[in-house]
Amino acid sequence: MIDVSEYRIPAGTKVVLADHDADDKTGFEGGKKKGKKALSRLNKQIAELQRRLWAESRQGLLVVIQAIDTGGKDSTIRKVFTGVNPQGVRVASFGVPSEIELSHDYLWRVHKETPPDGYIKIFNRSHYEDVLVVRVKRLAPEETWSRRYQHIREFERMLADEGTTVLKLFLNISKDEQRQRLQDRLNEPDKHWKFNKADLADRELWDHYQRAFEDALSETSTDYAPWYVVPANRKWYRNLVVSSILIETMEKMDPQYPKPEEGLDDVVVT
Ligand code: ADP
Repeated sequence: MIDVSEYRIPAGTKVVLADHDADDKTGFEGGKKKGKKALSRLNKQIAELQRRLWAESRQGLLVVIQAIDTGGKDSTIRKVFTGVNPQGVRVASFGVPSEIELSHDYLWRVHKETPPDGYIKIFNRSHYEDVLVVRVKRLAPEETWSRRYQHIREFERMLADEGTTVLKLFLNISKDEQRQRLQDRLNEPDKHWKFNKADLADRELWDHYQRAFEDALSETSTDYAPWYVVPANRKWYRNLVVSSILIETMEKMDPQYPKPEEGLDDVVVT
């Protein structure tokens, strides 16, 4: 397991993404091959902790994943949650809001998806889009999106107070890594389906997105719902970091198997 404390953003920190090395792999001694073996051990630990969370059924875990396009949200989910009981894990993906969603406040569609007791809920994109794409693409005026940091802090505080652990991951890739990943999607026929011309227009807005992420991370990393900036250029290392964060968080949640009914010692199944 990797010491992930250096990737956690303490509350009140002004985040500068240029200071976070997307290539970092210093937390693990060994390369990709050893890293993949280590991941399968961490997968088993996560599966065991999730079994306890499910059996206990008294608290939920919300894992928010955000990244720039090609940042690796989907493959992180696939690799980190390999081996967990699918019954207790759900993914919610947030795309362009529907008409009905737009006719409500922006947290309406999000709150409905938060985890019930016993569940892990993974948010593939989230309410943070409402201070990211909405800001960068000017879908709402500044006076609207700038108020949302406070709403979000308070919303997450409420979730935490009511028994949901909130964990937020920003998968940090470099601009050059994004270029490479987009190019791979063009070069490799089985990746063509992932290529979207609109991603090129978003790439033009790279600097704007970086500023929007920096402000979101700075404004909303709290003790009760911390952000982690995960170095994500190397996929194997990213998976180890995310798995380690999950394990550390779930160990703190410390879910327990419920106490067995009294008097089971004398029961014999005939
Ligand atoms: P992904 O890129 O996560 O694999 P999609 O290709 O379906 O998934 O993209 C989802 C799109 O929805 C993204 O372009 C994202 O910016 C957009 N989106 C998500 N939430 C909002 C929102 N609140 N307002 C506007 N656009 C949003």
